[in-house]
Amino acid sequence: MEYRRLGNTGLKVSEISLGSWLTYGGYVEEQNATASIDKAYDLGINFFDTANVYMRGEAEIVVGKALQKYQRDSYVLATKVFWPMGDGPNDRGLSRKHIMEQCHASLKRLNTDYVDIYYCHRFDKETPLEETLRAMDDLVRQGKVLYLGVSEWTAEQITEAVHLADKKLLDRIVVNQPQYSMLQRYIEKEVIPVSEKHGIGQVVWSPLAQGVLTGKYKKGEAAPAGSRAAQENFKALGGLLTEANLDRVELLKEVAADHNISLPTLALAWILRQKNVASALVGASRPEQVEENVKASGIKLSDETIARIEEILK
Ligand code: NDP
Repeated sequence: MEYRRLGNTGLKVSEISLGSWLTYGGYVEEQNATASIDKAYDLGINFFDTANVYMRGEAEIVVGKALQKYQRDSYVLATKVFWPMGDGPNDRGLSRKHIMEQCHASLKRLNTDYVDIYYCHRFDKETPLEETLRAMDDLVRQGKVLYLGVSEWTAEQITEAVHLADKKLLDRIVVNQPQYSMLQRYIEKEVIPVSEKHGIGQVVWSPLAQGVLTGKYKKGEAAPAGSRAAQENFKALGGLLTEANLDRVELLKEVAADHNISLPTLALAWILRQKNVASALVGASRPEQVEENVKASGIKLSDETIARIEEILK
């Protein structure tokens, strides 16, 4: 496993990291969740991601429990705040109240004294940005959070937050968590250039397009039993499971085969060609998937291969 600096910080994270959305505390039973986390740790993944909202706290409990056996300083743990955790008017968003209460609740569920990264899971238009940044800064000063991040903020929102933090001498955002894969590339236009300018690194979610870029889904065939798309609630895979994408996947499989690597390995190596990406944040329902996905770390694609992929993705 190779490690990269998270933005301009001194923190080193594994090029492949492991998340827990939908899977842990959800449709993947605990034994498989724990086995996948253990496999990841054994293979050098030092970066684990969760959020308070994933299965309303259940994912944090599963991840926290699995990580208890490892030395706390040997891994980087991230969680998030924003999405509703209850029905009350203050059970959501990025107010000082909700941030403080949810940070404490997350620490309890994760059974740890601090998280390495705390993300604002979306932008909150109903809370002044300064209130949010000050609350996050206080958590850093209290030692409960080490680094600040945002998820799915626009280039404009990121810029505003950086300028405000500098003006008010508050801790700065150092990481952004957007969706990014061969099939979803919106961040290339503005988010990456702005992040590069401000020393912010990307930790990208759904780098395998929720499994579409593994080649397991095929045109005209039912989703394989037990896969994410076989779950009634997730069958469209966020709009990524389309015929046009499955056509692209068939061509991408040929590129992978020509390089003697699997399609997931190719898809993740392609992500890691971006210097601004610190880590590709994958999901895994079984340890074997983790084993496959870590193979991408350290693989450098040639300009020729990247151009061939570009033709397919056009
Ligand atoms: P991926 O694109 O990596 O999809 C993961 C799914 O693909 C797995 O659950 C598995 O599904 C399948 N898969 C993975 N590897 C393989 C393999 N080698 N062979 C076959 N199938 C494979 O990422 P996710 O969509 O899971 O997102 C990753 C993480 O990103 C989340 O866990 C979460 O931590 C974070 N995230 C953040 C968001 C945000 O708003 N900030 C939003 C969404 C996610 P199957 O069940 O079919 O086996």
